[in-house]
Amino acid sequence: MPYVGRFAPSPTGDLHLGSLVAALGSYLDARSHGGHWLLRMEDLDTARVLPGCAARMLRTLESFGLHWDGAVTYQSARTGHYAQALERLNAAGLTFECGCSRRERANQGGYPGTCRSRAPGAGPTALRFRVDDARTVRFTDRIQGECGFALRERGDVIVRRRDHAFAYQLAVVVDDALQGISDVVRGADLLDSTAWQIALQDALALPRPRYAHLPLVVEPGGAKLAKSRRSIPLDPGAAAPLLYEALTLLKQDPPATLKPESAGRMLEWACAHWELERVRGAARSCG
Ligand code: GLU
Repeated sequence: MPYVGRFAPSPTGDLHLGSLVAALGSYLDARSHGGHWLLRMEDLDTARVLPGCAARMLRTLESFGLHWDGAVTYQSARTGHYAQALERLNAAGLTFECGCSRRERANQGGYPGTCRSRAPGAGPTALRFRVDDARTVRFTDRIQGECGFALRERGDVIVRRRDHAFAYQLAVVVDDALQGISDVVRGADLLDSTAWQIALQDALALPRPRYAHLPLVVEPGGAKLAKSRRSIPLDPGAAAPLLYEALTLLKQDPPATLKPESAGRMLEWACAHWELERVRGAARSCG
């Protein structure tokens, strides 16, 4: 199977060091396998999308030398595909309307299936995908190891929001399949979403990509990266030192002699030396 990877940012805030680590990890894994690397803008949440943000992201990635293959895809232009997938879930009886208020949901923690058998009220409703309570989704993550998530604990996931926007979990599954993504490399904050995504792939008879969840960025001493550092927009003028730092955070051990080099040289070195194994370190969330 040819390697096809992707970076799928949401243009709801500028790229920062954590985003660079995710972008670089997926880029290097794709390129070192001789694979393609696609760029997808996850811009379905129109209330949170910031004007000009997607264009800035593209410029930033280019200034870091992270060139993608083919045209950028925008989820906002692909809603017909999500509608079709949703239709299939509806036809299979796998969705239900949920009128729970935000407050009701907040009090409940994980969604306990309140509306599975309750007639929706008069107000706007979301659509949820009914998970199989008896199933534990298992997968081998290339970094995190053997993972298992009980769907009962995850609860029924929203696939269409009450404002009728398609939800991330549905769109990501449809796009990964339609774009032929073989390998998802992304931040570990999305590790537990993978259980829902696999359940949706199975319900829609879509292929399952391989997954690798990169540990979240921490300070060299292991402390959580300060919020300010996490949210500082990447400075295109400092591409080379930031790439060096991202390579260090990805445990690739770049030599000091690489420090004064250009972003292009750094990426060349990193493609030739990329080892996903090293990223694993001590931080494993599964298995
Ligand atoms: N758009 C998601 C985010 O920016 C990432 C989606 C993914 O990599 O699956 O958090």
